[in-house]
Amino acid sequence: MNYYSLSHPDARTLELSQRLDHVNQRVARACQTAGRSPDDITVIVVTKTFPPDDVRRLISLGIRDVAENRDQEAAQKAELIGKESVRWHFVGQLQRNKVNSVARYANVIHSVDRAPLVRSLDHARSQQQAPLQVLIQVDLDEDKKTHRGGALATEVMSLADQIAKAHSLQLQGLMAVAPRGSDPDAAFSYLRLLSEQLRDVHPQAQWISAGMSADIESAVTHGATHLRVGSAVLGSRPVLQ
Ligand SMILES: *Cc1c(COP(=O)(O)O)cnc(C)c1O
Repeated sequence: MNYYSLSHPDARTLELSQRLDHVNQRVARACQTAGRSPDDITVIVVTKTFPPDDVRRLISLGIRDVAENRDQEAAQKAELIGKESVRWHFVGQLQRNKVNSVARYANVIHSVDRAPLVRSLDHARSQQQAPLQVLIQVDLDEDKKTHRGGALATEVMSLADQIAKAHSLQLQGLMAVAPRGSDPDAAFSYLRLLSEQLRDVHPQAQWISAGMSADIESAVTHGATHLRVGSAVLGSRPVLQ
C-alpha cells in the first residue's frame, strides 16, 4: 500500500481507500475466525460500470487484480490502462464470439463452463502470450430460472481434464456465485468439497474464486482463495439497461 505517499489524492481516491480498508478488515477478521492467513487470499476488485480512472485510483492504492464482466468494456479499459500494472480477470458469462477478444487481454477467466469454450479459448490464445489462467464456473443454483451460468457439478471433472490438456490454458481451480436468496455457507462448503475432489486429480487447481461484497465472510470461512468484490469497494453500481 503506497497511497499515503500520493501527494494529492482526490476525494474519490480517499473514498476508495477507506472502503478498501474496510474490506481488508472484514477479510482479516474472517481469517482470524477461520484460522487462515490473509496472505492466502487475493481481493479482486470488480470494476464493471466504473470509469477507467477508478481503475487507476485502485492501482495507486496497491490493487493488482481487477475484474470485468463484459467484453467490450473490459477490452476498452485494458487497452487504456495496459497490462503492466494489473492483472485482468474476466468474470462474466462468455459468448463464443467474444472469445478471441477476451483471450487477447485477459490474464484469468473465471467463467469457463462448457467444452466448446475450452477449445475456442485454447485456439484463440496466442502462443506468444503466457498461458491463459482458467477457472471452471460451477452452477450452485438449483433454481434454473435464476441461472447465472456455470457447469453442473457432474461436468466439472471432464471440463478440467480438457483444460489441463490444452496447451494455451492453465487450469487454476473453481469459481461460483452464491445463489441469490439462499444460504451462502451451504453453497460455498459444497464448492470446497468439489475443489477437494478436483485437486485429487489436478493438484495444481488450487484456486477457489468465491465471495462477493455481501458474502466475503462466508467465502473466507469455506476456503476461498480469491474474492471478487465490487460494490463494497466502489459503491453501488448504476442500474444497467
Ligand atoms: C459484479 C460481480 C461481482 C461483484 O459483485 P458485488 O456484489 O458488487 O461485490 C462478483 N462476481 C461476479 C461474477 C460479478 O458479476
